[in-house]
Amino acid sequence: MDQLKPSDLAVHRERATGGLEEIISAVRYVIDGGIDDGGVLLALETLGGDFDIFRRIQLPFFTHFGPDERYLSQLAAQLAEEAGFPIRTPIIGTFSSTGYWTIPELVTVCLPAGDHGQLLAFPDLVHELAHILLHEADGGLTSRFLSQSIGPYATSLGTVDGDPEFADALHPQYQEWFIEFAADVIATYVCGPAYGWQNVRLRAQGGSDLAKPWQPAKPAPLGANTEPFSHPADNARATVIGAVLRGTGETVAADRIQAEWASLTAHVVQPPPVYEISYPQSVLDDVVSMTLEWCRDGDLTPYADADEHAVVAHIGRAWQLQLADPVAFAANEDTMVGDLRALVESGASTDSPS
Ligand SMILES: [Zn+2]
Repeated sequence: MDQLKPSDLAVHRERATGGLEEIISAVRYVIDGGIDDGGVLLALETLGGDFDIFRRIQLPFFTHFGPDERYLSQLAAQLAEEAGFPIRTPIIGTFSSTGYWTIPELVTVCLPAGDHGQLLAFPDLVHELAHILLHEADGGLTSRFLSQSIGPYATSLGTVDGDPEFADALHPQYQEWFIEFAADVIATYVCGPAYGWQNVRLRAQGGSDLAKPWQPAKPAPLGANTEPFSHPADNARATVIGAVLRGTGETVAADRIQAEWASLTAHVVQPPPVYEISYPQSVLDDVVSMTLEWCRDGDLTPYADADEHAVVAHIGRAWQLQLADPVAFAANEDTMVGDLRALVESGASTDSPS
């Protein structure tokens, strides 16, 4: 791997090779007789799975690292610095087939190929950086929310929707949902209306998912496959984003985005009654107020205070032009993309891939 890395990737290389070396020494321990014969195959199978994760999810960040990934990594570093996120600098890959995603433990963020030229989508990058921030420095925010908000609320519920275990499932479900909501709150705080617009744009691209803005309407039943329940319902996320915009003085944008969301979802079926129990307004209010207070206490930079040369200001201007005059935006998009790239690359180190 050595010859593939620019010097500023050294820390990522060490993390990846360190993980690989752990797998190798564990395999050596197993085949040298370190565990009982009966457990050898199972141990090797587990280690094979670990190696597969390395091969499929970590290695491509290095094998696909080129000028665009380098630019995006610099862009992410600058976004984090301007927003006041005290996080390790992530490495960005562009091999995602499922939108933007992050593995905070590995300090990696993955985008679809070509998204270095997608100014309008960059608010989603801030959402992923917020995941890393919450992973590295949440300062007790998540446990505070779980114990002070959803915990007491879930305890107050009896049998819901014919399910006596509903409350037992709702509380742990919010361990995942709260992180997603909080990442939305932080991204809206930092990006302003652009995050709300990008959220609408992303959902509008969702095709069949657009017909399910209330799903998941309830937590994963205990013992069920949790994958379809990993993110809270899009409608609840839109509610939270709108509340953050109002809470930060962006009332006009909040109204416009809310109207756009309403028209986008006007023709889908009404929410099932259980939706309101899974996402009560009081809990969504807590999500917003507790996370906003946490943003302010942590001295994160709100959109209104961003420097005019900040990355989020570039993104905000791109969205303003797109909304006011889409034809003019289309005509100017390449220039705006190039201006931002020149700005970011001029401020970054000049190390080149070795
Ligand atoms: Zn997320």
